[in-house]
Amino acid sequence: MRLRNVKGARDVISLSPLVVHEPEKAKGNWKILFNNDHPLRIEIGMGKGKFLHELASKNPDINYVGIEKYSSVLFRALQKMETDPLPNLRFIRMDAEDIDQVFDREEVDRIYLNFSDPWPKDRHAKRRLTSREFLKRYDRFLKKDGVVEFKTDNRELFDFALEELAFAGFKALQVTYDLHHDSEMVEGNIMTEYEERFSSMGNPICKYIVKR
Ligand code: SAM
Repeated sequence: MRLRNVKGARDVISLSPLVVHEPEKAKGNWKILFNNDHPLRIEIGMGKGKFLHELASKNPDINYVGIEKYSSVLFRALQKMETDPLPNLRFIRMDAEDIDQVFDREEVDRIYLNFSDPWPKDRHAKRRLTSREFLKRYDRFLKKDGVVEFKTDNRELFDFALEELAFAGFKALQVTYDLHHDSEMVEGNIMTEYEERFSSMGNPICKYIVKR
């Protein structure tokens, strides 16, 4: 996924009006930034942004923000916006460690985590985007009835994610270990890049939807 040394990616990103460059200043001001009061949903670790672009295109009355750590990957999401621009999609290039500096209390009504990096070593568990540490950050800006949706083909990471919920005061609303064969949960499913890749290899996809 990480496309190293995409020439000029950093320059393109630093000049792009689609990227929110000082995201801390947007905290509490996202409605002003989008110039409407539509709900706000975010994807953390968006990669090249296929999922979010498709979602935003299907839901023009919802605002979306894609968060991605690496310029080289975010650059691809910007290219997609050049060919198919959408007014309800913006991006932030940042490490999600500081995500609660960017969104205010009750500002976000849904968080998508798709095929998040597994960080397999125990000592790195708190870097996983589904760890209790991250869930506690999400708790600071997720709406009262807001949800977190997580998809992965990594069963160990999924089991870990389920175990972490109670430690941060979250509970599972829906869980599947084989999304593509779950007639209820698969309805309206938008495939991410990783989902396409891993499901074509025959890997079952796990998904949860959780709230506090
Ligand atoms: N969500 C996409 C998909 O399903 O196709 C990409 C999945 S890829 C395995 C994980 C992505 O999350 C990478 O692009 C990585 O750079 C990004 N990422 C991982 N940790 C992150 C963090 N702490 N903050 C922001 N982005 C992160």
